[in-house]
Amino acid sequence: MGWTDERVEQLKQLWAEGLSASQIARQLGGVTRNAVIGKVHRLGLAGRATPARAERPRIQTVRRVARPRPAPMVQVPIIERDPVVDDQGRKTTVLTISDRMCKWPIGDPSTSDFHFCGHSPKVGSPYCDAHCVKAFQPTQGRRDRERDKDYRRYLANS
Ligand SMILES: [Zn+2]
Repeated sequence: MGWTDERVEQLKQLWAEGLSASQIARQLGGVTRNAVIGKVHRLGLAGRATPARAERPRIQTVRRVARPRPAPMVQVPIIERDPVVDDQGRKTTVLTISDRMCKWPIGDPSTSDFHFCGHSPKVGSPYCDAHCVKAFQPTQGRRDRERDKDYRRYLANS
């Protein structure tokens, strides 16, 4: 079926109403979605002023609103556990840390209380789950960054 003047007018009308190419193809009958798209381009209608969404039948909009919205992206709260202590109540230090322990530094490296988290690290990471999240947080606080710097300086000097 070809493009009679009447059908072209109908196409223009439907396009202006914001129907999609496939919807228009269904309405007109006898044409494919691609044929509609091609014709729209040839007619120079392609850039329609109003987005299709705004002009869709109301019922769709209502349904869209009623549908439960996906949960907003929330940052997973970091649950840091108390650092590991051995049977004598000692925390993990530079001397006792191993590859099977989270190397997250806790405390001031210049004091004797400085220690590591010590929990089982996540596979392929030096840190446990909580500290992995913390280490790769884009909004890592300035204080944490400062502390990391201290920590690296500490390791370099020890
Ligand atoms: Zn940890």
